[in-house]
Amino acid sequence: MLSVKITNALCNLQCSYCYEHIYRTRLNHKAVDMQAVRRQIQNEQEPPYLHGGEPLLAPLEVIEEILSMSFQKVGSSSLQTNGTLISDKHVQLFKKYNTSVGISIDGPGELGRYRKTLKSAKPTADIVMDKIRMLRSEGINVGIICVLTKANALRAQRDTFKAWIRELHELGISGRLNPAQIDYPSVQDIALTAEELSDFYCDIARFILTEIGDDWLPIRDVVDSLLGLNQGTCNFGECDYYNAVAEKVIFSDGSTGSCLKTAKTGHAYPRFQNADADPRGFAKIRYEILPLIPQEDGGCEGCKYWRNCTGGCPSEGFGGDWRNKTRYCKAYYDLFETVADILRKIMPNVILTCDLDSSHFPSKNSVRNMNPSAFYYMTYGNGFNPSSWRKDARVNIECCSQQQPESGNELVNQNYDHGDRPHGDRPHGDSYF
Ligand code: SF4
Ligand code: SF4
Repeated sequence: MLSVKITNALCNLQCSYCYEHIYRTRLNHKAVDMQAVRRQIQNEQEPPYLHGGEPLLAPLEVIEEILSMSFQKVGSSSLQTNGTLISDKHVQLFKKYNTSVGISIDGPGELGRYRKTLKSAKPTADIVMDKIRMLRSEGINVGIICVLTKANALRAQRDTFKAWIRELHELGISGRLNPAQIDYPSVQDIALTAEELSDFYCDIARFILTEIGDDWLPIRDVVDSLLGLNQGTCNFGECDYYNAVAEKVIFSDGSTGSCLKTAKTGHAYPRFQNADADPRGFAKIRYEILPLIPQEDGGCEGCKYWRNCTGGCPSEGFGGDWRNKTRYCKAYYDLFETVADILRKIMPNVILTCDLDSSHFPSKNSVRNMNPSAFYYMTYGNGFNPSSWRKDARVNIECCSQQQPESGNELVNQNYDHGDRPHGDRPHGDSYF
C-alpha cells in the first residue's frame, strides 16, 4: 500500500486514541513539495492511496492530482478519510476517478463518542453516517475502519453495534474492526482489555459468519488463514518494525516513511532503502525468538496458531514493546478457535492449518502453500466419495508432507470407489460424528 500523506498527520478531529497522536504533537512543519511527491509516486509500482491525518484538508486540485495518478495507473483510486469534510465537489472527483472511499467511523451515536471535532465535544458519527448514505446513493464504493474501544465493543453496546453492521450490510459496506492501540497513559482507560476484545471478536465472528456473511476483517483474514489460502493483512505475518513497509508512506515534502503505528515516540522511521542491508530486516528477529519463549513468560511457544498469528502486530506488543507478542493474544487465540469451530461444524472434513505439523508447510512462519489443501478430502482424485463430512472420504495425508517420502515408503491412496455415490439423503452410518 502506497500511502500518500499529503497533509501529513494534520487532522480536523481530535480522537483521543489516535495512533498518530504523539507523532502529530511532535511533528516539525513539513512543506508541500508536489514535484517531490510526484517523483516518489512515479518511483513506485503501486498506485497512490490518499491517507492522513485528514487528506480532505488538502486543496481540491492536490486531491484531484493524486486520485488521477492512481486512476491512470489502475483505473481506480482510493482514500481514507474521517468523512466530516466530504463535499459535493469531492463526490464529483470520486465519481470521475472511480474512488473507493474508506471512512473511519466507530459506530452510530454514542458508540462513536471518542471521535470529536477540534471545536466541540460533539461526536461526529451521525453526520458521517449521513455522508456514507449519500456516497452509496451516488454509487460510490465505501469501506469502514472502525476502532474498538470501551465506547463501542462492550456487551452493553452489542445490540446497537450489530444493528449498525446490518445497516452497513444493506448499504453494501464492510470493513475492518481494529482495537485501539493506546500506549500513552492519559487515555488508557478507554482501551479494551484482552478479555473484552475476545468477547467482542468471538461474538461478532459468529454474527458475521452465520448471519451477515460480509468480509469484515479480521474475521475474513482468520477464515483465509485457517484454510491456508492467505496470510491475511499485515498484523498476521512478519513485520519488520523499523521498516514496516506494509504501509509505504510518502509525506507532503516527498520524504518517505513506513507505517505510522511504529511512530509511538513521535519519530517516523524512514523507509529503509539500503540495498546492502539484510533483506530480512533487523526486527524480523522477533519471529525467531517469540516461538522459543514459553507462553507463561510472554512468548508464543507451542501455540497452535503461531503460523497464523505470528505474535500479532508488533506495535501492539505488551508494554508498548515491539519485541513482545500482542497484548491482545487472548482475543486472537479465541477468535481463531471460534472460527475453526464454525468451519469444522460446517465441514467436519476440512483440514485447517492448525491441524498439520510444520512438514506440511514450506515456511515456518506462514500458512501459505499448505500441502494438502484444506479441501483435500472434498476433492475428486484424493479418495472416494469426496465429501465435506463422510469419514470414508478421509485418506492418509502423510503423503502430502513437504518432505519427499523416503524411497519405498510412499503412502498409497488406499481408498477406492465402491459405487456408493452421493445421493443427498441423511447419513447412513458413515457420517463423521
Ligand atoms: S506495525 Fe503493525 S500495522 Fe504497521 S505494518 Fe507492521 S503489522 Fe502492520
Ligand atoms: S495467539 Fe497469542 S500465543 Fe498464539 S501466536 Fe498469537 S500472540 Fe502468540
